[in-house]
Amino acid sequence: MYDIVADCSDNVPTRYLVNDACVLSGKPLVSASALRMEGQLTVYNYLGGPCYRCLYPVPPPAETVTNCSDGGVLGVVPGIMGCLQALEVLKIASGQGSSCGQQLLMLDAQEARFRLIRLRPRQAGCSVCGENPTVTSLQDYEKFCGSAATDKCRRLCLLSKEQRISIQEYKEIVDGGSPHLLLDVRPLVEVDICRLPFSLTIPLASLEDRKPEHVRLLQNKITETKEQMKAESHVPVYVICKMGNDSQKAVQVLQQMSGSELECITAKDIRGGLMAWAQKIDPSFPQY
Ligand SMILES: [Zn+2]
Repeated sequence: MYDIVADCSDNVPTRYLVNDACVLSGKPLVSASALRMEGQLTVYNYLGGPCYRCLYPVPPPAETVTNCSDGGVLGVVPGIMGCLQALEVLKIASGQGSSCGQQLLMLDAQEARFRLIRLRPRQAGCSVCGENPTVTSLQDYEKFCGSAATDKCRRLCLLSKEQRISIQEYKEIVDGGSPHLLLDVRPLVEVDICRLPFSLTIPLASLEDRKPEHVRLLQNKITETKEQMKAESHVPVYVICKMGNDSQKAVQVLQQMSGSELECITAKDIRGGLMAWAQKIDPSFPQY
């Protein structure tokens, strides 16, 4: 038997599952989350306020979701959010009540600033807490969200087999000395921790924004690589990130750019990213 539920999970399927379970059993849900330098706190399904589904009726596309395992988080941030979450649980349990029922508390740790924003009220059309609910029992939430209910090692699969190579295959390319371009698309803070010395660094976000200086830099490197190649063919570009998720998105962006914004290239993703490099190729490479 539980009176109050605290959601400390870091994936979308679990958030929907816990929300629905709380609505169906009539319990308040104290929900906190943190990513990078930001934190959020709210109480769902409390004193007539909205539930998670009232605010997010449909799950976001799986490839747009970043969790802490991929995006990183400064440990102090979930620490702060966890303390605030515990405070709200204790206030509700002791009868003092929470004021977060229809409010979202947001922490911007970079600027050391809290903001409180008012959330939209409970929605009459909500599929679980509305007037005519269609969700009356728990569902298959992984299917509903199109992603696994795990906080770790989320593996996206956006590309075909032919568009990806293993870390061992990439090592053979390096050892064989065949000209290619290695593009590292991690955020710069991660590149500062460790990188492969022969890689070109352009963060995924900059690539997606097609920043002119980055497109120019990329084109210059492609031209340079092409000059080293003996046969006339498309320059092979291998894309790497930490785990092999962002690199797949980057390959999709590069494919769109190939032949228009960039010279024709063959872009492939390196499965498992730099963590696979650390585990299978070079044990001295930092794991973070
Ligand atoms: Zn609702």
